Amino acid sequence: MFDPNALLRTHLQKLVPYSSARDDYKGNEGVFLDANENSLGSITEEDWNRYPDPYQKELKARIGEVKEIDPKNIFLGNGSDEPIDLLFRAFCEPGKDNVIINPPTYGMYKVSADINNVEAREVLLTAEYDLDIETIKCAVNENTKIIFICSPNNPTGNDVSLDKIEEILCFFNGIVLVDEAYVDFTIRQSFALRLEEFPNLLVLQTFSKAWGLAALRLGMAFASEEILAILNRIKAPYNLSGLVQRTVLKALENLEKKDKMVDQILKNREFLGEALKQVPMIKTIYPTDSNFFLVKLENASDVYKKLIDQKIILRDRSKVALCEGGIRITVGTEKENELLIDALKNLN
Ligand SMILES: *Cc1c(COP(=O)(O)O)cnc(C)c1O
Repeated sequence: MFDPNALLRTHLQKLVPYSSARDDYKGNEGVFLDANENSLGSITEEDWNRYPDPYQKELKARIGEVKEIDPKNIFLGNGSDEPIDLLFRAFCEPGKDNVIINPPTYGMYKVSADINNVEAREVLLTAEYDLDIETIKCAVNENTKIIFICSPNNPTGNDVSLDKIEEILCFFNGIVLVDEAYVDFTIRQSFALRLEEFPNLLVLQTFSKAWGLAALRLGMAFASEEILAILNRIKAPYNLSGLVQRTVLKALENLEKKDKMVDQILKNREFLGEALKQVPMIKTIYPTDSNFFLVKLENASDVYKKLIDQKIILRDRSKVALCEGGIRITVGTEKENELLIDALKNLN
């Protein structure tokens, strides 16, 4: 049976977490003279003088309804970056343990590994941008704590094979992180609905993409209570500001707008995909399950720079392994997509 506490770094097994002033009293009404806050109010019009809920219970309850996930299986962080970093700090002994990543993929896994002085073993995706199971199995050793899987994958855009993700969840006795930042743009069901089946699964989602709230910094991790209890013990006590909690709670009354935006982005993706086919210099357009395309062309870096001169900014991935000659293009508004296509056709 998988037990995340068996993976925990030894010095954390005896950790006494910070206990906040309000841990002993749960009510909202009272004379609060326990936290050295400003009892008079705030310098702003709206009052922000009280510390926010460290466990974001109201927000989690609402997200749980929207996602159909039990709030006890939800962790909220300052972007997805926070749970990624916490996983390293909880489970990976610097200079000793390792994790596995599957490039070309999201850059933050490697950066977070480097910051924490943890080896990131790189197992390249196959030529079809799918998981290379046999090589992953060879790369795993007794010090491997986490396998990072990004699906739909950034920067390639595609979902990797779901049966391969399941195979990894079954054979690997560490944490399997499935990053679903782009899950709203794919047709498959989220792995977050299968937590009971896989006790070693942690699913990442974010408010930064489909919800259009990148500036607020709100990431979600879905996992077993046991895994999340560990993250909760080592996180900063007030990791989400009151402003973020209040704003997102309000935003979640507006589900219709999110659905409308996703529909529109999918329509624009269809248009952009067709239009890119009409641009002669583009040699390959990869199939996408996300809100962006990876395309390959000759002189990718030149094209990228020339477009910057016209204030059209794409993501140059041409120096990345398996993405040689590649540029990543986010689906824009109808107008933006047309401007891009015109600019590409007129480049010389
Ligand atoms: C954009 C993105 C995220 C989101 O990160 P935040 O810190 O939540 O903004 C996470 N994972 C992948 C693969 C991404 O592309």
